[in-house]
Amino acid sequence: MNPRFLLPTGSYEVEATQIDPDHGVVCLRVKSCSTQSQCPCCEQLSQRIHSHYQRKLKDLPCSSHAVQIVLNVRRFFCDNSACEQRIFTERLPELVAPHARRTQRVVTLMQQIGLLVGGSASVDVLAYMGITISRWTVLRDVRKVALPASPTPRVLGVDDWALRRGHRYGTVLVDLEAGQVIDLLPDREADTLAQWLQTHPGIEIISRDRAGAYADGAKRGASQAIQVADRWHLLKNLGEALTTLLGQHRRLLKQLDAEPVKTMPSVQQPTNPSSTSPAFERRLVRFERVRQLRDDGLTINAIAALIQLDRKTVRKYLNTETLAPQRPVRRQSQTTKLAPYRDYLLERGLDGQRTVRQLWRELRDQGYTGGLTTVATFLAAVRRSAPEATQPSKVEPAGQMAAPMVKLTPRRATWLLLARADQLTPDQHQQAQRLTQLHPDIAHGAMQAQAFARLLRERTVEAFDAWLERSCQSSVRELRTFARGIQRDYAAVKAAISLPWSNGMVEGFVNRIKFVKRQMFGRARFDLLRIRLLSRPAPSLHQIRT
Ligand SMILES: [Zn+2]
Repeated sequence: MNPRFLLPTGSYEVEATQIDPDHGVVCLRVKSCSTQSQCPCCEQLSQRIHSHYQRKLKDLPCSSHAVQIVLNVRRFFCDNSACEQRIFTERLPELVAPHARRTQRVVTLMQQIGLLVGGSASVDVLAYMGITISRWTVLRDVRKVALPASPTPRVLGVDDWALRRGHRYGTVLVDLEAGQVIDLLPDREADTLAQWLQTHPGIEIISRDRAGAYADGAKRGASQAIQVADRWHLLKNLGEALTTLLGQHRRLLKQLDAEPVKTMPSVQQPTNPSSTSPAFERRLVRFERVRQLRDDGLTINAIAALIQLDRKTVRKYLNTETLAPQRPVRRQSQTTKLAPYRDYLLERGLDGQRTVRQLWRELRDQGYTGGLTTVATFLAAVRRSAPEATQPSKVEPAGQMAAPMVKLTPRRATWLLLARADQLTPDQHQQAQRLTQLHPDIAHGAMQAQAFARLLRERTVEAFDAWLERSCQSSVRELRTFARGIQRDYAAVKAAISLPWSNGMVEGFVNRIKFVKRQMFGRARFDLLRIRLLSRPAPSLHQIRT
C-alpha cells in the first residue's frame, strides 16, 4: 500500500513508515516535494533553501494506534530586497497550521465535536477515540472556527433570550424567509441592534416584540424598513391587561368559584397521619421527659444538655400544655399540580393534533405551574393504556388522581375569556359566559379584548381603527392603557394585522439556544454560544482526504 494514501492531498510525500508495536505508535516521516515556496510576507517565490528542521505532529489514530508525523520542513531565503523577511519556513496548509502540534484534520475533528457536544463532553468523546486533549484546548480551537458570512435578510425577526434569566439577556436575529439564525447579539440594547442593522443595509421588514429598545434600534439602524409588532407579544400584553382588570374583581371570581358545578367531583380530604405516627410518638416521649425534668428542678440549659435538644425546643415544650402534632410540610407534587387539568388533557391531548409542548403551553396559560415532563409522562401513560381507557370518564392513570376544580384565578379567567370557542369544553364555555355577567367592566373588557384577538387572528385590518378609537375612549382603565400603548406603536401594530410576518419561528430558535446553553451546563460564554449557533458543519474527514 502506498502510505501517501493515508494523508490529505498536498505537495508532500511519505519517506518512510515505522511501526512501534510496543508503544502502539505508527510513525510517518513526511517531507515536502515542491521545489519552491512562497514567502508569507511578500508572496514572492523562492527556491534557495536555507536549512531543514523537524516538526513532530499528532495525527488521527489509525486502527487503535497513535499516529505521529515527523515532518521535515525547510526554511527558505526570501530574495526580495524590499521584503522585511529574510528567512521563512515553508507552509503546508493542507497538513498543518503554522506552529500547531496537531494536524489540521485533528483540529477540524476536535472543533466539530466541540461544536456538537460542547467542551466537557468532547474531551470524553475524543479520549474514547484515542485523542487526549484538554477541555481548554478544545474550546480554544472552537473559538477559531470561521463563521459563515451572514447574508442580509429581506425579513428579519428580532427577539430576546436569557443568557442568565433575570440578569443578562441577548438578542437573536432570524432570517424569517430562510428560517435561519443569522446572528446573536450580546445584549438587548437599541444601540447594539442599530449598529448591526447599519452594517447590514437592505432589510425591508423587521418583526420585533413590543419592547421599546428594539423599536428604537430598528428605527435608527434601518429607517427604511417596515416594523411589525409581534402578534404573540401583542396577545400577551392584551392578556396581561385583562388579567389586571380581573384581578380587581377577585371577590366576584371567588363567588363564581364557590358556585356548585354539576361536574365537579368531591375532593377527598386526606386524613392527617401525623398525630399517630411513630415520629409523633417519639416527640411525645421527649416532651413528657422535658416536663418531668423541669418538675425535678433542672434548668433549661441542663435539660437541653441532658437529652440533647435545642434550648429553644425545650423552652417551647415548657411553654405549652399539650404537644401539637407537627404540621407536615406539604409540597404540591407534580401529579397533584396536574390533577385539575387532567380532563382537559384527556380531551385535547389524544386526538394527535397537538404536540406535548403545545398542550403544555395551553395549560400554562390556564395557570398550570408544573413542568413539561409531567405532561409528557401523563400523556404517554394514557396513550400506552388500552384504547377504551382513553375515554375521559374511565381513566385513572398516574395514580388515583382526583380532579378538583381549577381555581378561578384572574389568569385562568383571562384564558377562558380569550380562548377560541373550539378550545373550550362545554363547562368552560359556560363558565366564560358567567364571567362576563359578573360586572359590566368585565363584560366590556372581555368583549373588546376578544375583538382585538379576532382582529389579529383573522387579519381584518379595516376593523382596526374603529376598535382602537373605541378602546382609547373606554371607561375601563386597563383597556384604555393597552389601547394607548398600541396607539404609540400604531404603524407596527397595523403591520402586524395586515402582514403575515410574526416571530413564532424565532421562539423555536430561542429554545435551541436554551438547549445548547443547558448542554454547556449553563456556563456558556456568549462567544462560544454564538459560534455553536451560527457555525455550519465542516466537510467530513473523508471529503477532506479526497
Ligand atoms: Zn518576502
